[in-house]
Amino acid sequence: MKDDRPSEKCRGPYGEAGCLDEARFSVLRHRLPSLPVCPVHLGPSLLLAGSVLWPPDITMIG
Ligand SMILES: [Zn+2]
Repeated sequence: MKDDRPSEKCRGPYGEAGCLDEARFSVLRHRLPSLPVCPVHLGPSLLLAGSVLWPPDITMIG
């Protein structure tokens, strides 16, 4: 079944395009847009991305 939502690409762990995988999670950040990340980059993003809320606030988007 096709998902009609536009797929968002992973931007982790540094908030830059580079990873071409589809984002599955969105990590909320303080005063910054939430960071869409793939499963592989979820962990690194929590530890390395700037302004990530702690404890992490993660939403599943895919
Ligand atoms: Zn990724």
